[in-house]
Amino acid sequence: MRILIVEDETSIANFIRDGLMEEGFAVDVADNGKAGLQMALDNLEDYDVILLDWMLPGLNGIEICRRIRQESLLVPIIFLTARDTVDDAVFGLEAGANDYIRKPFSFEELLARIRVLMRTRSHEGLVFTAGRVELNIEKHTVTRGGKPVDLTQKEFALLEYLLRSKGKVCRRTRIIEKVWDIHFDHNQSVIDVYINALRRKLDEPGAPSLITTIRGVGYKIDTDP
Ligand code: CA
Repeated sequence: MRILIVEDETSIANFIRDGLMEEGFAVDVADNGKAGLQMALDNLEDYDVILLDWMLPGLNGIEICRRIRQESLLVPIIFLTARDTVDDAVFGLEAGANDYIRKPFSFEELLARIRVLMRTRSHEGLVFTAGRVELNIEKHTVTRGGKPVDLTQKEFALLEYLLRSKGKVCRRTRIIEKVWDIHFDHNQSVIDVYINALRRKLDEPGAPSLITTIRGVGYKIDTDP
């Protein structure tokens, strides 16, 4: 899952980015309003949440929010604001934001709100299963037959994306867009490395792989029979 942070204060942007990356998100950061709007519009379908600061050089958060909403009603937007009057919060929500959070905030609070928005948007729960494998978003755990499986953050993010798309083919380009950030160098063979790692950790010896290769296209986790 991929998140855009538009925030000009480097310390705050880094604090959020590092925390989200530890949770397995792909994260892009823009440090001014114009770059933020451009990145949002260029990758609108790839972002699962946009975190938008209010006061930004170039273009303020309200204006960015309005412009994004002209293009997409779907992408969840959370305002990060130092302002603390009720009027300002209402103004942000009227511009099309889904939620706002006042600085200073704890990372846990921000993460909880992101999870709520993602859950609302996807109409899905926070537990995904395929065969004996279970991935729990909230606890950030993966088990096979009830036993914990130790995955790296990227492996977790990749498995999460495949499970969210269960029954559908995930194209390689789409996997890159959803699981890796904007600095990724587009060498798609890295996907195979991670798929192999997932198979090593999740597949039962001698049994068919949980993840099916669709040659020349991508990968798929089948719906349970
Ligand atoms: Ca600011």
